Amino acid sequence: MGTSRVIIVGGGISGLAAAWHLRQGDPDLELVVLDGSDAPGGKLRRAQLAGVVIDVGAESILARRPEGTDLARAIGLADRLTHPTTASAAIWSRGALHPMPAGTLMGVPSNPAAALGVLDADEIAWAEGERDRPLEATVEDLSVGEFVSGRVGSAVVDRLVEPLLGGVYAGHADQLSLRATVPQLWQAATAGESVTAAAERAFTRASLDHMPVFAGLIGGVGTLTEELVKSLRAQGVGVMSRTVVRELRRTSVEGRRGWALTTGPVPAPVELEADAVVIAVPAAPAARLLAPHAPYAASELAAITYASMAIVSIALPRHGLPQLSGSGFLVPPVEDRAVKASTFSTNKWRWVADAAPDLFILRASLGRVGEEAVLQRSDEDLKRLVLGDLADALGGQLPIPVESHVQRWGGALPQYAVGHVDRVARIRAAVAQVPALALAGAAYEGVGIPACIASGRAAADAVLTHLRSGQGLGSG
Ligand SMILES: Cc1cc2nc3c(=O)[nH]c(=O)nc-3n(C[C@H](O)[C@H](O)[C@H](O)COP(=O)(O)OP(=O)(O)OC[C@H]3O[C@@H](n4cnc5c(N)ncnc54)[C@H](O)[C@@H]3O)c2cc1C
Repeated sequence: MGTSRVIIVGGGISGLAAAWHLRQGDPDLELVVLDGSDAPGGKLRRAQLAGVVIDVGAESILARRPEGTDLARAIGLADRLTHPTTASAAIWSRGALHPMPAGTLMGVPSNPAAALGVLDADEIAWAEGERDRPLEATVEDLSVGEFVSGRVGSAVVDRLVEPLLGGVYAGHADQLSLRATVPQLWQAATAGESVTAAAERAFTRASLDHMPVFAGLIGGVGTLTEELVKSLRAQGVGVMSRTVVRELRRTSVEGRRGWALTTGPVPAPVELEADAVVIAVPAAPAARLLAPHAPYAASELAAITYASMAIVSIALPRHGLPQLSGSGFLVPPVEDRAVKASTFSTNKWRWVADAAPDLFILRASLGRVGEEAVLQRSDEDLKRLVLGDLADALGGQLPIPVESHVQRWGGALPQYAVGHVDRVARIRAAVAQVPALALAGAAYEGVGIPACIASGRAAADAVLTHLRSGQGLGSG
């Protein structure tokens, strides 16, 4: 029996993590990662801004889950792990910035009174009354918006939950699944518990933990995929960019079943063979590749929609700048602004402040699902919009930027709609019937970096089990 070859389609963090775990699991496997973009890394990417290389995609790693920080350590980045210097964010509500109330669970306050300013007195009283009202246990998945507004009022959803959910999913509370996006609230829902009590419990547990919630990497989170690619190549893994996989075909060579993958330009296709394949691309391309082999899974995948976004990064001269405190601010959709969040990178990450002491670097994100019109504007327009919203939020004209950078992310974030958990279970069950094939990526069990790494690892484990069982050789 010769060496088995596994091809990973998609070189974002999910596909690269799958390659990493396959290499750790079997040093003899032949491994190739094929990525369609100019450079691997997917939504982890860095770019130059006023002489500093900064993240223009993902910029922090949830540290409460181990996968992200563990992988960083495993590839030699332990001494680059860092944590935000400030976590105090603000909410732009009713035309002014207010401190984010302490102790919220995806915006649901453990102590509604702490949200005074963001919420008015009547809205707080209604939210506080939840613990005294009779609460019914929920059986079926429902939207975060429907559930939370039913319990503590629509103002909590509009002004607190929306901006937080929007920050993670670029989606809307009335469409996103409670079960898939806020499992702790889903637990409270199924148990018939108060959501403010659930938020309080989560807050108390987190305070006892003493662990910072988020980590970053000195030099940017984009170094995670850049260094991972270097490490994989050093271990003999082929990582190819500008290589879009257009088709997957079942093969059977001398009784050995596997896959042929078609890449290259349409007039001059290139075929690559593999004993097993990991598909680690977003839902739409995954659906296209799967359609001939798992049509039901493909149609379910095709139903997962994505939000597009843009990240506008701006370097301002410090001279003449008003005092900007905290890590940034979130903007609820009810405020009807182009900007949905801004991160004050210079305040949040010491390495950014150190790299450019004369500058104040911040970034703003635009675009929610269904609000793509704003993204059709030119880069110059987006920069102007951001500067206008920032000036309004910060209460004064800002100095002329030294430099700005616009990164557009078409198909940025999958929308976990109501019923997502069951949909993913159906997709996974259907794909399990297709031998020598595994799925990984942000479309399934979480969009954050640790969840993506976990999905890559699970795909790697499934492929290793398959290859070890000998099923790749003849059967299936
Ligand atoms: C602006 C932004 C900010 C974010 N911030 C954070 C954050 O701070 N922290 C966090 O944890 N998460 C964050 N996220 C979410 C997280 O970054 C993503 O969910 C995650 O990186 C997705 O990784 P992935 O490998 O599953 O997919 P992707 O990163 O989308 O990678 C998929 C890759 O597949 C390639 N591809 C597609 N089709 C094909 C094909 N047919 N053939 C070959 N290759 C193909 C693409 O080119 C791409 O490189 C952010 C996301 C965005 C968009």
